[in-house]
Amino acid sequence: MIIAVDGPTASGKGTIAKALAAHYGLPHLDTGLLYRAVGWQCFLDGGDPDDPAQALAAASFPDALLADPELRSETTGGLASRVSVHPVVRQALYDRQRSFATQPGGAVLDGRDIGTVIAPDAEVKLFVTASVAARARRRFLEMQAQGRDTTLAEIEADLAARDLRDTTRKDAPLVAAAEAVELDTSQLSRDEAVARAIALVEARAGALRSGR
Ligand code: C5P
Repeated sequence: MIIAVDGPTASGKGTIAKALAAHYGLPHLDTGLLYRAVGWQCFLDGGDPDDPAQALAAASFPDALLADPELRSETTGGLASRVSVHPVVRQALYDRQRSFATQPGGAVLDGRDIGTVIAPDAEVKLFVTASVAARARRRFLEMQAQGRDTTLAEIEADLAARDLRDTTRKDAPLVAAAEAVELDTSQLSRDEAVARAIALVEARAGALRSGR
């Protein structure tokens, strides 16, 4: 079973994807991390993230970079959103994501274009959303816990800029797949959101089994 979990930054999609993977014993890929690695590598190279060729050069980042804590910062999130606009970068990361999705036994992937581009054949597609205020508050608490110096206003502005870039880019914009089930986590605790996601997967799996 392939489970695609898409949605905007800090919607809770990463937490939900990880929990679904643990629940169903499936491997999980956070595809945002790949774009973050490209953005951060581009920065380390002294490259321009808005230049397609320089961003593409950074797509051959070493695997060890994926463990760099700097990938989790808001700055790197912004760089990721800029390099991810370039079709050549998206193409360079496609095979890795597609092979992960199609491995025997299935997988859970979270990102922006899993249900639409990477795994349009996914059996289950969730589109996780939350209000900007709820997402900013969560991200702010996360950043505080990591000891990072930032304000709620800065985070809200950054989220709004990223949403705009992610939803309006020409190639693989953030959009719910036609058959995706939407899950709004604004008013839900972590455990409630996970329970709701599992119920949605069960409903979908049940429908598939009965041929609906
Ligand atoms: O999910 P995360 O915040 O880590 O993603 C960072 C950025 O990477 C996003 O803002 C988006 O621009 C880009 N991204 C993407 N496609 C994906 C995953 C992430 O364009 N599948």
